[in-house]
Amino acid sequence: MKQSPRDKKLEEVLRSTHLVAGGFMGSDSRHPIEVIEQDIIALEEAGMTTARLSQRMKELTEIATPRLGNWIDGALGKLRVKSEDFKGALVCPWPHPGTFDKRITTVEHLETGQQVTWTDLNIHMIAEHGFFEGKGAFFRIEPAEIVSILFEDEAGI
Ligand SMILES: [Zn+2]
Repeated sequence: MKQSPRDKKLEEVLRSTHLVAGGFMGSDSRHPIEVIEQDIIALEEAGMTTARLSQRMKELTEIATPRLGNWIDGALGKLRVKSEDFKGALVCPWPHPGTFDKRITTVEHLETGQQVTWTDLNIHMIAEHGFFEGKGAFFRIEPAEIVSILFEDEAGI
């Protein structure tokens, strides 16, 4: 694919390990724009939008935040959720002004045991940039997987 200077700069930043350990791209050799396009297709195939998905992620993080470090059972149906705070802050690599607390939310489906984990920055990057990180990145989120965990009831599984 043909890259604009801006796309090239974005790729450099996302592959850099200065902002997060291992970078945002993991071992993914695709260009970030390609990753975004393919993940959006996967999300659409699962009947989901970045707006709805990020909204639900935000809700779950907010449910868990008052009781940091503890599982909260029955958050949104068959899910349990836990948030943990770590020292420091994350910045959006696009970049955007402001920082995001280094808060990690884990959601587990009580029946299947499936888990998905995200940071506040993941929520922002999905909502604003459609970016789920590259394959192999520490906080890579698989679009189809997170939809099946967070929206199971609606999918009628
Ligand atoms: Zn941003």
